[in-house]
Amino acid sequence: MARYTGAVCKLCRREGQKLFLKGDRCYTGKCAIDRRSYAPGQHGQGRKKPSEYNIQLRAKQLARRYYGLSESQFHKYFTIAERKQGVTGENLLRLCESRLDNVVYLLGWGASRAESRQLVTHGHFLVNGKKVDIPSCLLRAGDVVSIKEKSRDSEKIKRLVEASASRPVPAWLDLNRDAYEGKILSLPEREQIAAPVEEHLIVEFYSK
Ligand code: SF4
Repeated sequence: MARYTGAVCKLCRREGQKLFLKGDRCYTGKCAIDRRSYAPGQHGQGRKKPSEYNIQLRAKQLARRYYGLSESQFHKYFTIAERKQGVTGENLLRLCESRLDNVVYLLGWGASRAESRQLVTHGHFLVNGKKVDIPSCLLRAGDVVSIKEKSRDSEKIKRLVEASASRPVPAWLDLNRDAYEGKILSLPEREQIAAPVEEHLIVEFYSK
């Protein structure tokens, strides 16, 4: 999957809000949004009133960047969300939330989604006891994610587990810190999803 490798703070500045893509730095005074809260580029400070299309496009881009997904992956989720019963926008966010890399991040194992994704691809996690190194693996209610026994001794993992103690875990996940495992109690309801996304605008964008 093609991955964005440019400066991630630019993405936050483009969307006009913190997307927390850089881990700890996002909580310090070094955050680019705190220092330059206008869009990057030559015309960043003097943009015209956005069109309806532009508003919808920005909502889609914000969600995509928040979860660190490529356009094709995000569009694929939209197609699946449309086919499911229920509200398409909520289905879409639920799919993004249920990705293995996102769940690992929400359990506190990774300072950012990008770091959690890297840990997954490096094979540090088990899903229901089996090694899974595919960040896009979609989890279901009842699935248990755990840190591989061998990985628990790694300095990096130890540091992450320690740091995770101060991070709140969403109510749809149950984290057992001592056992290095987290369980998905149920897939999240919209109000349990923290993404700063107006999903109805994404639906309008793709429905044109
Ligand atoms: Fe975004 Fe974090 Fe960069 Fe701030 S430090 S602009 S929140 S990625």
